[in-house]
This record gives sequence, structure tokens and C-alpha cells, in this order.
Amino acid sequence: MTTPTTIRALAVERLDIPLRAPFGIAGGAQELARNLLVTLELADGTRGYGEAAPFPAFNGETQADALAAIEALRSRIEGADVREWRAIAALLRETIAHAGSARCAIETAVLDALTRRAGMPLYVFFGGASAWLETDMTITTGTVEEAATAAQEIVGRGIRVIKVKIGASDLALDLARIGAIHAVAPDAPLLLDGNGGMSADTTLALLGALQVQGLRPALLEQPVPAEDWEGLQQITRWSGVPVAADESAASASSVLRLVAERAADVINIKLMKCGVVEALDIVAIARAAGLGLMIGGMVESVLAMTMSAHFAAGLGGFTFVDLDTPMFLAENPFHGGFRQQGARLGLDHITAGHGVEPR
Ligand code: MN
Repeated sequence: MTTPTTIRALAVERLDIPLRAPFGIAGGAQELARNLLVTLELADGTRGYGEAAPFPAFNGETQADALAAIEALRSRIEGADVREWRAIAALLRETIAHAGSARCAIETAVLDALTRRAGMPLYVFFGGASAWLETDMTITTGTVEEAATAAQEIVGRGIRVIKVKIGASDLALDLARIGAIHAVAPDAPLLLDGNGGMSADTTLALLGALQVQGLRPALLEQPVPAEDWEGLQQITRWSGVPVAADESAASASSVLRLVAERAADVINIKLMKCGVVEALDIVAIARAAGLGLMIGGMVESVLAMTMSAHFAAGLGGFTFVDLDTPMFLAENPFHGGFRQQGARLGLDHITAGHGVEPR
């Protein structure tokens, strides 16, 4: 039966966005965000939009993988009713489990269409705990000089919390970069993200060297590879700083394992890893286990980052917020979305859905 909320059409197109500078992490650099835009149209004409942001250097998922996954599911999404959003998410989990960004794009578009039609902003749909967040800004891998310049720019923007990508080269370079950043921004809490590029021994050596300089990071994110559960557990136990799992926290079941093995203090939740609905499960597991919450993303435009902002603000309780990649893009293909002032991301002006549309 066709209801007004039945999906009449799903369209997917490439969304290639140039960056101001390459976004480098331990596993490689992204010079162009090779993303996808999913547009759903309901029987009553309502549209919903979702973005996929596969990041090959993070977990190997490519634009071609995500596009193929969405195309493969198109005929089963068309004809579904967005009011059955959990059933749609279950279908995606069963059929394209490893195409996390494709799941995220479709689920975002489904929830956007549902809540646009209902005249409800997504942060209210998710719980209405808050309508604003304070984001950090990232310093990507590079030289000492580049790190110092980036730190100056971040301070100039009025952003307080600095995230630093480490683990791409040797320990000495990372120590010099962190020292240069700290010299520019001595009061900035530093979040160090290894993206799985270090060993447990190197990580503990880095923290020891920082301690000698009187420097204690506010968070240490995924220092060791995703599959090094024992290393992550050891660092969580012995490092003396809060440890976040990101690459190791790819699904709800992997977060259960992190809880069982006490291998992290904080979970970095990214809708691109497993879609929106499984991310809700992850929030519930983390909360029940007393773990801290972080919201992050891949190299995403304002569309996907605004969706994540609705998710984190609406649910509440996110201690770490890393929704900064729109600041790295050379173009903004959209209008609407969160309003940013310095580090502050506001959603309270949004009246329906996520509030982002193509230009
Ligand atoms: Mn990370």
C-alpha cells in the first residue's frame, strides 16, 4: 500500500569536494573528499538527504564500495515506508553491513524525510537534551612548522580544544609537533589521535616523554591498530590518561568486547562506521558500561556533520566533540546546517529534519 511516507525514489550521486589542504592521518591522506549524496523522495513529495563519507585511509571503504552498496539496495528501499526506519536499518545491517557510510547515508535520508514531514528537528527527535555543542579542531599529520601554523589558526578561530593526528612517522617528530602546538596554545586541552599507527610500547614512550615536559593529553585516541585488543587494553590500564577507541569501536558488538575487556575509557562514535541506528545501540552500551562518549566523523561536509551534531546534542552526554571537517573543505555544496561561531555549533534555528539542502 502506498502511504504519503512511502519512498518513491532513491537517487545517489557522487559528491566530490576539494579540500583546502590534504587531510592526513597515520594511514594516509585525503586530498579530495570522495563522498556521495543520497536523495529520497516520498510519495507526498517530501525529500530527505543523506551523505556517505567513505575514508579509505581510515577503514578501507571507498566511494565505489559505498556507491555499489547503495545501488544494490535501491530496489528494496524504494517502496519502503520511512515510518519503518528501524526495519530499514535492519535490512541495511543484514545486507551491506560493512558499507558503513552507505548505511549512514540512507538512514540519514530516511530520518531526515520522516522528521521534515513531521515538522520536527532531528535534535528533538533524538531526545532534545541540548541544541548546541562545542567542537575541537584537528591538526593533521605534517611538519613541526605546519603544526605550529595550524595551532595559531585554531586559536585565532576561538577554538579551545585541539586534536592532533600522530603516529604517521617517528616518535621524535610527533613530540616536536606536540611541543610546538603546546607552545602556541598552552591552555588548549590536547586530544592525540594515533589512528592505529603506533605500537603499545611506542605509545607509552610518547606519554612518558610528554610527562617529562609536564604535558598530559586530555585524551589518547586509538594509538594501536584496531586488531591489537591487548595493546589497547594495556594502554587503557597503564597510561594514566583517558583512552578512546575509534577504529576498534566499529560496531555495537566490538564495543561490547571493549567493555568486556576494559580496553577503553571513551568510545568515539561516528555515524559513518555503522549507520545511525547501530550508533544508538553503541550509545546505550557505552552509557550502561560507564564509558565516556565522543562524537566524530570522517572527512564530511556540513550535511553529515550536522546530522552527527543533532545526534550528539539531542542524546546528550557527549564529552568530546570532533565535528570539524567542514572547516577543511574548499567548497560548501549545501546551505543550512549548524551555525558555527568559534567552537560553538548551534542547532536551535533548525525547524525540521537536519536542516541541510543542496544549493
Ligand atoms: Mn580517530
